[in-house]
Amino acid sequence: MRLRNVKGSRDTIADSEFVIHDEKSNRGQWNKIFGNDNPINIEIGMGKGMFITEMARRNPDINYIGIEKYSSVLVRAIEKRELEENMKNLFFIRMDAEEIEEVFGNEEVSYIYLNFSDPWPKDRHAKRRLTSDRFLNRYKNILTKDGAIQFKTDNVMLFDFSLESIEESGWKIDAMTRDLHHSDYNEGNVMTEYEKKFSEMGNPINMVRFRP
Ligand code: SAM
Repeated sequence: MRLRNVKGSRDTIADSEFVIHDEKSNRGQWNKIFGNDNPINIEIGMGKGMFITEMARRNPDINYIGIEKYSSVLVRAIEKRELEENMKNLFFIRMDAEEIEEVFGNEEVSYIYLNFSDPWPKDRHAKRRLTSDRFLNRYKNILTKDGAIQFKTDNVMLFDFSLESIEESGWKIDAMTRDLHHSDYNEGNVMTEYEKKFSEMGNPINMVRFRP
């Protein structure tokens, strides 16, 4: 994600009714924010929010939380969210995924989406990849008993690394394809900004769904 300093982004985020600011104080009680007990699905590293906003539009009985580290990107998601006047099931958090267990309680999240996560190509940065065993262990704690993760990327190196990490961590793969858009799993697929860009360039999209 190219990070341009978007003027006033911090103020926009501070003023937005769609951003939860005291996220750690909601640990274990996110259902109160939504005012119902519907399942909570999160996207970690949502970027400009195209995917999660469309998911929330299509599935009003699921609660969505989009997580993004950078203000300059989050403001773009807020702009999209502001156009959805009647939407009640989507909020955002500006945070680093490193702190995910401080924000969500045990078994609080039903589904995690990881879309086109940063590849961190250098070996010495492998621990920062959002599909490293370090992160998988954190996700395991916040996922419900029947919870699962879906990961999409066009990056073959990152995908192979993730499959190894999933296997070594003892997770079970429910579905996997190295060419999502030409597979049966493409039905109902919601594209992300990066997915649109890279598939238009001709890159096949890898996808895996897995559970602890
Ligand atoms: N998911 C979007 C898509 O598919 O279009 C954006 C993909 S972009 C390559 C990765 C995004 O993840 C960036 O917006 C980046 O700021 C965010 N990100 C990377 N590491 C993160 C972390 N540790 N916590 C939260 N967000 C993170």
